[in-house]
Amino acid sequence: MTLNYEKTNIWKNATQEQLDKIYDYGERYKSFLDSSKTEREACSEIIKQAEENGYISLEDALKSKIQKGDKIYLNNKNKSVVLMIVGDDLSEGMNIVGAHIDAPRLDLKQNPLYEEGDLALLKTHYYGGVKKYQWTTIPLALHGLIITKDGTKLNISIGDEENDPVFYINDLLIHLSSDQLKKTLAEGITGEQLNVVVAHNSKFPEEDSKNPIKDNLLKYLNKKYGIVEEDFLVAELQIVPASKARDVGFDRAMIAAHGHDDRVCSYAALEAILKTNSPSRTAVALFVDKEEIGSVGNTSMGAIFLENMVAEILSQREDYSDILVRRSMANSKVLSADVTVAYDPTFPEVLEKNNASLLGHGVTMAKYTGSRGKGGCNDANSEFIAELRDLFNKENIIWQTGELGKVDQGGGGTIAYILAGYGAEVVDMGTGMLSMHAPLELLSKADAYMTCKAYNVFFK
Ligand code: MN
Ligand code: MN
Repeated sequence: MTLNYEKTNIWKNATQEQLDKIYDYGERYKSFLDSSKTEREACSEIIKQAEENGYISLEDALKSKIQKGDKIYLNNKNKSVVLMIVGDDLSEGMNIVGAHIDAPRLDLKQNPLYEEGDLALLKTHYYGGVKKYQWTTIPLALHGLIITKDGTKLNISIGDEENDPVFYINDLLIHLSSDQLKKTLAEGITGEQLNVVVAHNSKFPEEDSKNPIKDNLLKYLNKKYGIVEEDFLVAELQIVPASKARDVGFDRAMIAAHGHDDRVCSYAALEAILKTNSPSRTAVALFVDKEEIGSVGNTSMGAIFLENMVAEILSQREDYSDILVRRSMANSKVLSADVTVAYDPTFPEVLEKNNASLLGHGVTMAKYTGSRGKGGCNDANSEFIAELRDLFNKENIIWQTGELGKVDQGGGGTIAYILAGYGAEVVDMGTGMLSMHAPLELLSKADAYMTCKAYNVFFK
């Protein structure tokens, strides 16, 4: 009997076979990241993989009697997805893993394009929590959706292929920065300074053009995509770092990429449910939008699309009533699948070491998040997390606890409290990481792999 508790290092204890699995998982996760740089792209990638694995849409599923083992997806406005494997009795509750597919980035304003100083630029409005200065002087890509007047939907993706051009946000040269350098990091670059350089050539055939660079660009965009400037007004376009996910370190044990928060848990939930077959309790993987801005709006966890989906399915029953839907939600068990901060040797002062997630030490359970005395968080019940401990220890899942910073250092939240509001048992369970919300974030392949394993045994 071991009296002392100690965290387990995955790398140190891994067999060669396990190491191979960790590195193989890293490859699959990186290719998911590269195909899913926005919530729309993640949504279509998740549905593509689900369909390849026998999932059918809720609309199609409802055409016949839904049975145990049926695999169903709900596409909620191309920005959030539910994958469900129907169990014995849906009203007895679901095992839900809930992740989010949006990530901090820069959105284009609705009338973004202007010309000044021999450059054409795009105005942006940042989305989610970003350190604005981090977005200057790095190669950037443009992703999103443009709908033209004739109804054509154009999925835009420019900047990630080797021969693509990239875009760029200026910072001030150091030689003239004495005033800027006296400002705080929060003020050194402002939101209105995050203007993206997109063109420069002013050679324009008609000599009377007042804005030849802008006019040139509009001509090019019209020729290439058939769009006019007014189409920007109804478009959703995002600026994200222009790079593929990359291995980090001589040992290639880590990955740097945009949007690990929360695509690391999203991919883990996806692979975990795709490897699950006919569980006795209904299994649900949730991929929601708008977590980074507070889970508001009709594609966020705050919307009731999961509840509506449950109602649609249960309404096939002869004894259907609203109470069955409520029971299904209240009897559910939920892993709120989101990232947390891991210990960074360069910034040790923001964490309390005994309660910080450590890189390479497994999936992290956060009993609570919140700030200033757990404010605004879901504080998971001991009965539920004890059940998870038994499951994980039995299934050889390497897990640890963590918290989002030491007491009164700051904090944050996840979608956990929303599902808890239905009466479900919920706990935060995800991957520890470094440089959260930076253009490129860092994590351990071992933790990413173990996160997926944990979700998989939870579904089973
Ligand atoms: Mn997150
Ligand atoms: Mn976040």
